[in-house]
Amino acid sequence: MTDAHSHLDSTIAEVWELLERIGQETADSPGITRAAWSRNEETAADHVRAFARRHGLQVLTDAFGNIQVLPPGTDPAAPCVTTGSHLDSVPHGGNYDGLAGIAAGLAVLASAAADPAGRAKPLRAVAMRCEESPWFGTAYLGSRLMLGLSTLDEIGDLVRSDSGKSLRHHLHHLGYPRAGEAAAPMLDSTLVTSFLELHIEQGPLLESDGFPVGIATAVRGNVRFPDARCIGAYGHSAALPRRFRQDAVLAVAELALGLDGFWKDRIARGDEDFVFTVGKFSTDAVQHAMTKVAGEVRFSLNIGATVETSLDAARAFLLDRIKVIEADRRVTFALGREVGTTPTALDRELMALLDDAASSLGIATRRMPTVGHDAAMFARAGIPSAVVLVRNAHGSHNSDETLDRDDFARGVHVLGRAMHRLADAR
Ligand SMILES: [Zn+2]
Repeated sequence: MTDAHSHLDSTIAEVWELLERIGQETADSPGITRAAWSRNEETAADHVRAFARRHGLQVLTDAFGNIQVLPPGTDPAAPCVTTGSHLDSVPHGGNYDGLAGIAAGLAVLASAAADPAGRAKPLRAVAMRCEESPWFGTAYLGSRLMLGLSTLDEIGDLVRSDSGKSLRHHLHHLGYPRAGEAAAPMLDSTLVTSFLELHIEQGPLLESDGFPVGIATAVRGNVRFPDARCIGAYGHSAALPRRFRQDAVLAVAELALGLDGFWKDRIARGDEDFVFTVGKFSTDAVQHAMTKVAGEVRFSLNIGATVETSLDAARAFLLDRIKVIEADRRVTFALGREVGTTPTALDRELMALLDDAASSLGIATRRMPTVGHDAAMFARAGIPSAVVLVRNAHGSHNSDETLDRDDFARGVHVLGRAMHRLADAR
């Protein structure tokens, strides 16, 4: 075991305490809540800055409260090998979604600062705001502002769901931009040579397959219909023969099962990356009754895939099925607005580098697609990007989310080794 390796172990122990402390201070039973640009998110940001300063690192905050941590004396305008993740959480979520990736970056930077070997490129860790979509109805606001993919003029009037106040109001309330503080530069693609994000997996695959660490292949894109409706006709549940019915519940159920069949078919053809969810499905509480055929159902459709052609095929299948069901059941579908994102490919060379770093540490990994993370924004900004996933039990976006300390350490070692190799390469 090298000195650098054991020094990283000691900074991992320190950031683990930091994680626990932030978790306690942002607790909101059940689980934790760090709303974007809230007091709790700011508490997490304050701890991150204080930790970095205690380790002699340079700390810069941008006009939106995103934090950059650099080795002492590093020119903030120098291109850096960069890591990081987000400070916010979903309501009553877990402590590690986002924050684990920030803690990992701090561990790598703090450990490297204690070993000031000359590197071709400096390292940078970032802590970003507002990655989660429940707060403003859309994801990645912090990283989009930091990378210049969105401006405050464009998104400053978005309203936070819990407070009813605008993004601009919340920024101002927390004192951003901060007068007298050195402002962090915008992190455009000239300042980030590569971006590596450590994130908990959020699903069960690493746990079920016995791998502590995963290497993401792509960030799933999606096609979403948040406000879809099916309109049939209300009728007497006993008096109406089947052929007279315009049953909205059965129509939407048939559509959902049709898409489920499409999904099974994709799996049979070797596509493990497709997903499909009807997260919302409700009859009208004012009009529905046990003794009535349902005349209307409101529902959502959320289709995910790692390649655009899968999304297009699913959309075509959906529209086709709708025509058949409408004719057969005499109902009408109104899908409403379509929203979504395109799939984002991650960098193949970085995937190989991470695999290699893991195997040199004796850590087994598997490749797998992942869900939306800040890394997708870096990739869209043209920066080679990758995601290191860490096994966690009980999934994520719930208060039972958990993370094993040793698995976290394995992930940080893989991240650290890959970052050092990138930084040392001339
Ligand atoms: Zn996250």
